[in-house]
Amino acid sequence: MKNQPLNILLLGPPGSGKGTQALKLVGEFNLKYISTGDFARQIAGEKSEEGERVRRALAEGKLVPNEIIDNYVEGELSKLKTYEGVIFDGYPRDLEQALNLEKFLSKFGRKKILVIYLDVSEGNIIKRLLKRKRSDDKPSIIKKRIEEYIKKTKSVLKYFRDKEILKEVDGNGSIEEVYKKILKVIDYD
Ligand code: ADP
Repeated sequence: MKNQPLNILLLGPPGSGKGTQALKLVGEFNLKYISTGDFARQIAGEKSEEGERVRRALAEGKLVPNEIIDNYVEGELSKLKTYEGVIFDGYPRDLEQALNLEKFLSKFGRKKILVIYLDVSEGNIIKRLLKRKRSDDKPSIIKKRIEEYIKKTKSVLKYFRDKEILKEVDGNGSIEEVYKKILKVIDYD
């Protein structure tokens, strides 16, 4: 399937190192990078009703409303050339987003989907997030983000596991160790 562009979904709890690993993959495979978290933070900076809704969600560690996220993703996919590969960082986060994403991918003729889950222990997650110091990385919000992640994303993992396209990677090691494991599961042929 070498002539098919890659569509990688990189899933994992907050602090799992998704962003770091995604950027390494972007360089290696020349992928377009779509981060719904970066998008949410950008919208949160806008003086609009939508900006206010997103600011509130981020401050509470909740997910941003799906229609905002899904519209963005569909728009970004529509801009891609058919041969361009893509990696999603932090999307889909719930079952509705997963089903919508599949619709969008099939609408744009994208067939090769790889779902990678970075599994990291809760202790490591908290340690990493407290070192990072982003504005939603305060201890009280971190706890909510992790709870929200587990509650909502469990169904996404189950969905892709049942379809036998979920690759689970132990994300507890160093950046390079984890990256090597990811390359192994991509096994691009
Ligand atoms: P983290 O994975 O560390 O939480 P992200 O940058 O992926 O970092 O997400 C930060 C915040 O942005 C999330 O807590 C959530 O409020 C919002 N967000 C990101 N992606 C999505 C998404 N796919 N759907 C809804 N909200 C999202």
